[in-house]
Amino acid sequence: MIPFSPPRIDDKIIAEVTDALKSGWITTGPKTKLFEKKIANYCNVSNVLAVNSWTTGAELLLYWFGIKEGDEVIVPVYTYCATANIVMHRGAKVIMVDVNSDFGIDISKIEKHITSKTKAIIPVDVGGLPIQFDDLKAIVNKPEIKEKFTPQTDNQEKLGRIMILSDAAHSFGAKYKGLNVGSEVDFTVFSFHAVKNLTTAEGGAICINLPKPFNSEEVYKQLNTLSLHGQNKDALAKTQKGSWEYDVVDAGFKCNMTDILASIGLVELGRYESETLPKRKSIFKEYSYLLDKYEWAVTPHFIDQYRESSYHLYLLRIKDVTLEQRNLIIQEIFDKDVSVNVHYKPLPMLSYYKGLGYEVNNFPVAKSLWECEISLPVYYSLSKENISTVVDAVVKSVIKVKG
Ligand SMILES: *Cc1c(COP(=O)(O)O)cnc(C)c1O
Repeated sequence: MIPFSPPRIDDKIIAEVTDALKSGWITTGPKTKLFEKKIANYCNVSNVLAVNSWTTGAELLLYWFGIKEGDEVIVPVYTYCATANIVMHRGAKVIMVDVNSDFGIDISKIEKHITSKTKAIIPVDVGGLPIQFDDLKAIVNKPEIKEKFTPQTDNQEKLGRIMILSDAAHSFGAKYKGLNVGSEVDFTVFSFHAVKNLTTAEGGAICINLPKPFNSEEVYKQLNTLSLHGQNKDALAKTQKGSWEYDVVDAGFKCNMTDILASIGLVELGRYESETLPKRKSIFKEYSYLLDKYEWAVTPHFIDQYRESSYHLYLLRIKDVTLEQRNLIIQEIFDKDVSVNVHYKPLPMLSYYKGLGYEVNNFPVAKSLWECEISLPVYYSLSKENISTVVDAVVKSVIKVKG
């Protein structure tokens, strides 16, 4: 069976994790802090906070910005549930917007959804392809849009406009205008979950990139404190002689990264540009080379003038199929011992969101993408031979089902 995306666990990872275990320091400590500095350097920002998942990191940011009941947050309809769930956790309203044929939020449709209650927008770099950040920034900075913004907390007052929090769960190492993503909008949050391009088993990181008058170091300290119950000293600081006493300044979260996880991340990061990304790119190119021959194959867009994907998900579409046919094709592919997936079932089709009254027919592009999408396996040890096996399975299955 060809799996979908197994992690790359080798002797280097095991040695580094063993080192963390043997050091006697297993929670947040020197390895986490080093990992944060290296990510900051890679992403062209001065401060990064490592956390235990994208979900907790992004929710922490909504809390920091004071998002609560009565507020609205705009998200794309085509994403993993986490993007919307964190808004629900804060008691705010999820405003869904349709996507374009690149799977990213349709920026031209955002403005009509902005009201005086809109506090944040969470775009998603689906599959690893960055959204057009400059177009989104232009909207939140329009005088008439800033006019509508109604600040209710100090941080909202200080920013003076809608906050942009990029869901970059897929796009670590993707490029926007020549730079690795991380310094485009107010906050960029990565996921290091086991299936993601760079993994720490579970984990995430927040790139802080707020405009003046915010001070990045100060915001880092606030978020760091909030990630540890609002406790003003972390475990490492408390081990300093005579430093036992601490205070709690807020009812914070508990979402710090541990040194065991950071040690996996340090190895992964060290070989990311030299091994991981080139390998993933070559897999994407090979799939497209083999599939572009077929009239029914719509291969994903992964590079253009301003953007380059991180090659996270190979989002293949099959032209002119019904949902039933797409599902049959997937069954046929699995029968040939190849694992595939679908990214994503639009949010309004999930029972919870459907139950809240969201209706998928209001999002025709997302609906049509979902009906014909099949994600192919992409992982480090996928060989050229494996790629042929996958493509062969896809081609035979499509022909069998479509005739
Ligand atoms: C994986 C993923 C998340 C959640 O990441 P966790 O680290 O598991 O919390 C959020 N958004 C998208 C688009 C994802 O794919």
